[in-house]
Amino acid sequence: MRTDSFVLRHVGPRENGVKEMIKTIGVSSIDELIDKTIPADIRLENDLNLPKELSEFEYASHILELSNKNKLFKNYIGLGYHPTILPGVIQRNILENPGWYTAYTPYQAEIAQGRLEALLNYQTMVSELTGMELANASLLDEGTAAAEAMIMLFNTRSRAQKKVKAVQFFVSEEILPQTIDILKTRALPLGIELIFGDHLKFEFSAEVYGAILQYPSKNGQVHNYKSFVEKAAAVEARVAVAADLLSLTLLIPPGEWGADVVVGTTQRFGIPMGYGGPHAAYFATKEAYKRNIPGRIIGITKDKDGNRALRMALQTREQHIKREKATSNICTAQVLLAVMAGMYGVYHGPKGLTYIAENIQNLTSTLNSGLIKLGLTQLNCTYFDTLTIEVTNTLKVKEIAENKGVNFFYPSVNQVSISINQTTTFDDVNEILSILAEAEGKETVVLSEIVKGELPAELKRTSNFMSNEVFDKYHSETEMMRYIKKLERKDLSLNHSMISLGSCTMKLNAASEMLPLSSPNWGNMHPFVPVEQAQGYQDVFVGLESALNEITGFYATSLQPNSGAQGEYAGLMVIKAYHESKGDYHRNICLIPASAHGTNPASAVMAGMKVVVTKSTSEGNIDVDDLREKAELHKDNLAALMVTYPSTHGVFESTIKEITEIIHERGGQVYMDGANMNAQVGLTNPATIGADVCHLNLHKTFAIPHGGGGPGVGPICVVKHLAPFLPSNPIIPTGGETPITAISSAPWGSALVLLISYSYIKMLGAQGLKESTIKAILNANYIKARLEKSYDILYTGENGFAAHEMIVDFRAFKANGVEVTDVAKRLMDYGYHAPTVSFPVAGTLMIEPTESENKEELDRFCDALISIKSEIDAMKNGDLNTALKNAPHTEEMLTADNWELPYSRQHAAFPLPYIKENKFWPSVRRVDDAFGDRNLNCSCNPIEDYMD
Ligand SMILES: *Cc1c(COP(=O)(O)O)cnc(C)c1O
Repeated sequence: MRTDSFVLRHVGPRENGVKEMIKTIGVSSIDELIDKTIPADIRLENDLNLPKELSEFEYASHILELSNKNKLFKNYIGLGYHPTILPGVIQRNILENPGWYTAYTPYQAEIAQGRLEALLNYQTMVSELTGMELANASLLDEGTAAAEAMIMLFNTRSRAQKKVKAVQFFVSEEILPQTIDILKTRALPLGIELIFGDHLKFEFSAEVYGAILQYPSKNGQVHNYKSFVEKAAAVEARVAVAADLLSLTLLIPPGEWGADVVVGTTQRFGIPMGYGGPHAAYFATKEAYKRNIPGRIIGITKDKDGNRALRMALQTREQHIKREKATSNICTAQVLLAVMAGMYGVYHGPKGLTYIAENIQNLTSTLNSGLIKLGLTQLNCTYFDTLTIEVTNTLKVKEIAENKGVNFFYPSVNQVSISINQTTTFDDVNEILSILAEAEGKETVVLSEIVKGELPAELKRTSNFMSNEVFDKYHSETEMMRYIKKLERKDLSLNHSMISLGSCTMKLNAASEMLPLSSPNWGNMHPFVPVEQAQGYQDVFVGLESALNEITGFYATSLQPNSGAQGEYAGLMVIKAYHESKGDYHRNICLIPASAHGTNPASAVMAGMKVVVTKSTSEGNIDVDDLREKAELHKDNLAALMVTYPSTHGVFESTIKEITEIIHERGGQVYMDGANMNAQVGLTNPATIGADVCHLNLHKTFAIPHGGGGPGVGPICVVKHLAPFLPSNPIIPTGGETPITAISSAPWGSALVLLISYSYIKMLGAQGLKESTIKAILNANYIKARLEKSYDILYTGENGFAAHEMIVDFRAFKANGVEVTDVAKRLMDYGYHAPTVSFPVAGTLMIEPTESENKEELDRFCDALISIKSEIDAMKNGDLNTALKNAPHTEEMLTADNWELPYSRQHAAFPLPYIKENKFWPSVRRVDDAFGDRNLNCSCNPIEDYMD
């Protein structure tokens, strides 16, 4: 065996460990374990047919070669994506730092204060720039954020509006084309009627509940929307605005002229374009909507000692609780990108941001002066960064520009649109002028000085923003580096210990998978360049799509969805389009088992389907009789079944083929939630179990790091009869032959991070992928074998084995006064992040170790849980002064002069010997969620403002 195989680096268990693990589990071989875990009738007969694996070194050459097939042009295309400068200190210390990018979503606030603070900075920056009262901690992209605004305003219509059936939503024709497409996709299933038009001519009526505008507009004109908003208010219609965040340093923010929601992207805050993403979209609104905001909000609360602490606000934390009544299906968002954009704000401060914006505006104005000298007509009387110019022949302009390595945008056959950005220089402006002059057959003009841009007083911002000291303190690199480090140290990430999150697959995110992300040849590609310029990316897509087809057993893949939940929505919309293509407009029932992830029902509702929940048996499996009964009852209207496999209980249900047949026989399609694909790859697949479409969470199974809660990618893979309906993009056509409209803004979604999954598959190959699945199952069953002497393991397969995860039951310990939360918090003292708490069963932990952890790490984790069991046993109901109840313990508390608790400091902080080697200190004590929810504060005001 080669010792430079990537699989040896990716997979944790070593040969000796494996032998002992098998013994502990009580099987004679790994093969026996797998045979007893996965039903024989769904096992693959052959190995995956994938290209031969590359070593890490070979892969580095391969990906470099591909990167050179991307042509790096100067991009003035705009349309929501701009070249920008990522400060080195942020690139090196965040983007390239596993302490930041391997963190999980900050559910365990006590060990996540660093990224919570970074996100609070982001929220503060967004709400102050937009002039709104509050902002969330990111959405997936500008187009989907606009759709969320449309839907939030729809759901919060007044009683009077509902009575008159106010279902019309005005969409300015000056909105970005990709946003328009997404609004179409999202409006239709909910019965929202879109009215497109010119905002100056639009007449409001009582049937109009809302509107959306672009600021500055798609072609660069900055409109004064004040009177439009007033007209809307007169009929109680609400106004959403898609705004360029950087321009708001100079322009009056929408909040000041009465907008109800402001959305947009923060890409130009230092985030590489990455051929479309990932970037954090923002969503800012009024206090009045705080219970309806999609996505997550970081709020301020206090810990057990009354100190300031941050956490995710409860009502927005997840749709697990609300399911089909959830305000949206957003789960994974864009945390890492929001952290970076927020840090860009911290590093530059309000003055620095204003300087960047003014430079852009001045260069734009300089370009405009050159156009006047050239005698060309420029259409925008007021602009920030974008000019639209009339030309004789855009083909001519395009040809000359591309020969010089320059991309413009061409809105029509005789218009050129040019957007200036942070990287544009004075010389670039002269180059642009020379291209236009040549195309128009004119003598070029050479400018020699900057012409300062001016805004009319009615549009010019006068209010302050970002006045909090955090935006003023870290402008030297030394200070910035230390600030980032200070926050990083508060967070427990994979570079400290295993994060065994059931259903979330926190496996290794290898450095060699991450390295290409730093290359400008991947980062600086605009998503709307002609595809010939992006051949490196196109090769990656082809390679990745065909590998995912092979892995799932399906026919075609769309890489567009930016998260698992967005994949669910995309898949259901594809199913809907398929039914409609056969005239079956009435098929709208979606069966969902009770144990499903909360995003499933939320997505089904968004797709305009009616959710019918099917029961589980006492063993936790799908109750096949109940399912058959409900499928039969609804057979005329059955659209789909959504099923997670192996189940969210961590079991390969042996009835799965029967289940998928029941649905097919009644005209339904089967949607498989692929979050648990890590237990399938190379051993079975969705096509074999009888599914028609699945999403994959590339940020779970396929090694994209979790980023502290995003980015994610949720491609959908489909059978042949669904392939024609895969989603497209209005600017760069992609998808099937009769595609549905766009699901997300960019043609291939978050293209940059697709490199990670591509490399993961490239370096593991067929054998390595299978090996990973097997080791994931081995690791889970080893933990199960060790823990079942102390705890009840809920639900196992017919032979008593788990798949790649298991549920440990803590409900019985309520008798001792112990809640599962106490265990989650106590694990922090032992150096561990809690497994998934109370999903899919309340009062339990769901543990998924993944293949990347070795036996030693699994043992430490099991030792911790077994030790906690003895703490539980020692407790009596009503005991409040125990380490379990007081957990987690901070350094400050442990070193205080006073220690009056009935257990020792040693027991509090170092309950097992291994901890002395590698102690992690939570930075706050247990946070008070209830207090935070009663006093929702989600921007960084001075501390006195919200403590009692
Ligand atoms: C993670 C997960 C999802 C949602 O995926 P996101 O990428 O977070 O949107 C859906 N279903 C299951 C079972 C999951 O574990």
